[in-house]
Amino acid sequence: MTGTLSVGSLSAEPGGKTRGSVPADLGTLTVDIPLTLVNGARPGPRVVITAGVHGGEFTGIDAAARLAARLEPGDVRGQVIVCPVANPPVVYQGRVDASPLDGVNINRVFPGDPDGRPTERLAAWLFAHLVDGADAYVDLHSGGIDETLRDFVGYRLTRDAGLDAKAADMARSLGIEDVVLGLNADGGNSHAAAARRGIPAVLVESGQLGERDEDAARRLVDGLHSLLRRLGVLDPRDTPDEPAPAHAWVWAGAVAAEATGLWYPEFTAGDDVTASQVIGHIIDPVDGQEHKVRTPVTGRVFYGMHALTVAPGAELAAIAASASEHSGNSDPGETADRAPA
Ligand SMILES: [Zn+2]
Repeated sequence: MTGTLSVGSLSAEPGGKTRGSVPADLGTLTVDIPLTLVNGARPGPRVVITAGVHGGEFTGIDAAARLAARLEPGDVRGQVIVCPVANPPVVYQGRVDASPLDGVNINRVFPGDPDGRPTERLAAWLFAHLVDGADAYVDLHSGGIDETLRDFVGYRLTRDAGLDAKAADMARSLGIEDVVLGLNADGGNSHAAAARRGIPAVLVESGQLGERDEDAARRLVDGLHSLLRRLGVLDPRDTPDEPAPAHAWVWAGAVAAEATGLWYPEFTAGDDVTASQVIGHIIDPVDGQEHKVRTPVTGRVFYGMHALTVAPGAELAAIAASASEHSGNSDPGETADRAPA
């Protein structure tokens, strides 16, 4: 592509870079979506990078903003669109997953509904204006303010081997060791919905607990540069990128709280657990009764609940099994949709 790159009223000519915002009409209100458009002078793919789909996930937002500042059109083949705050209501007002507008977690409703609730309209806007035109899509998340997280890259398997191979290649290029597969592309996660439309897409999870960690953000920017080199958007370096030693995992199970009370975990994200192992307990503050919490599966914990106070249904841990040991008899597609991506 060497023509004008336009999103709504914002545009960049070939060889140009434009920063600004574009209004998205959500029915009951309008929100301004910040964008950086980098239009290379030379032809190549269009890569779309979003962050700030959820609130309180600061590393991804920080990295996207740093990348947008650094990319120069003279270095770019093709086009790069960076959206550091895809969901301004949750990022600026809530710092959680559910939108203050309507209580909807946008990463359960992609590709959205242009006639739906405000958050569904925002999802539809992001797909229509950003994702649908992409040759590759990257969505940057972090563990939430109350979540511990082991960094990983996720993607979904489709029935298109060529598409899956492209997503796998993107995932391995980011310099993050753990790659977690979902065995289908069902559900409302942004990268799943993109994959269903034939767009190679990855979810990047980096950072946790609402921490602002400059080193983590810089590492993620480096990883995104590696990804852009891998996609041919940036020139290769003199010393070629070494692919990270990749370990493949498959979503195997999520553990939800069954009681209201105080949560005392006995693990942190990144720990390996064995089926039926006690991974923590919930104490009822009314009567002091203890509820033991066990993992139903063997694997590695990628998300863990850090908050002390939990209610039934709260996700306490999301666990993936090593792909080489995965038996294929669980329902990882469903689990992947429940994992707080
Ligand atoms: Zn998220």
